[in-house]
Amino acid sequence: MLSERIGRIDASGIRKVFDLAATMKDPINLSIGQPDFDVPEPAKQAAIEAIRSGFNRYTVTQGIPELHQRIRTLLADTRQYEPEATLITSGTSGGLLLALLATVNPGDEVIFPDPYFVMYKHLVHLCDGKPVYLDTYPDFRLRPEALEPLLSPRTKMIVLNSPCNPTGAVYTADELTMVADLAADRDILVLSDEIYDTYVFDGAYTSMASIRPANTLLLGGFSKAYGMTGWRLGYAAGPAELIQQMTKLQQYTFVCAPSFTQRAGLAALDLDCSHIESHYRRKRDLIYHGLVDAGYEVAKPEGAFYIFPKTPWGTDMEFVEEAIRHNLLIIPGSVFSERATHFRIAYPAPDDTIERGLEVLRRIARR
Ligand code: PMP
Repeated sequence: MLSERIGRIDASGIRKVFDLAATMKDPINLSIGQPDFDVPEPAKQAAIEAIRSGFNRYTVTQGIPELHQRIRTLLADTRQYEPEATLITSGTSGGLLLALLATVNPGDEVIFPDPYFVMYKHLVHLCDGKPVYLDTYPDFRLRPEALEPLLSPRTKMIVLNSPCNPTGAVYTADELTMVADLAADRDILVLSDEIYDTYVFDGAYTSMASIRPANTLLLGGFSKAYGMTGWRLGYAAGPAELIQQMTKLQQYTFVCAPSFTQRAGLAALDLDCSHIESHYRRKRDLIYHGLVDAGYEVAKPEGAFYIFPKTPWGTDMEFVEEAIRHNLLIIPGSVFSERATHFRIAYPAPDDTIERGLEVLRRIARR
């Protein structure tokens, strides 16, 4: 009944965690990768007004022109980037799927840093491509000596995610330039997933689109910045030819991003959300120092809202099972990696939840 394609996707790792989590009553939950605040009021108002005024039909496939214009202004202001074309997508996930379907041929290689955002691996498999893992342990930095040997005549794309889920790494201009130079020599597309761009804690943010505008596809979103995870809104910006093909595919798949959320996105982009960045910077400090004090080996995250410590003993799964026995829900690193040596904490949670989580982690640090 099922396709070979769907068989290429293996979700057993995360399913095992969900099965274990289902047995927990009122867990200390540090597993959820979404903001701990609700959609800002002006964005809700814009959505409500859109719905009430009957803005409920399909929009044009590519998304409403006002939002395109607003995103262009945003990209110019924050990145000095003037893309050839833009597309409003159904979440960043929608953009990812369209981008990979529009570019990856069977057997094409797609390189991305390991640890990685889960979808990359599975979507590349879905497109019959081959994921190639750029090992970035132990500090999650990008190094030319690790990247260069992975480049082959089949390399189609490099996917970067800065700030990174699950490590919190934010790539420097030097790291991005190194990747851009290696990619440019070989005409490789760089897909830059910048969904966490509003959460950068230590210094300025550099986007791949500022460094290599010609051959970069930038994906952005509203889920993390505005707590709109359920509203499915994102955007793509990049080479006209690619955006055109992604738009064609959107016409036959997602059709358009939800109408009222496009209006809400427009309102959201006018809000000053810098207090949210400070909110997560403080939580980052709380969890990072708590883990270091408890003796965990961990790279300090510079953005997003995740931290990715090394398990002090056992495999990632053994350690996470022990945490779950203590009512703490975290995610084993092998969900995001070819290694089974780390675990992911998502810290968009109340401070007392973080403190209770740290308490358990102190208790189970030694077997
Ligand atoms: N990219 C990364 C790195 C993410 O962490 C997520 C969400 N967890 C997405 C993309 C997808 O986000 P969206 O809700 O915009 O589809």
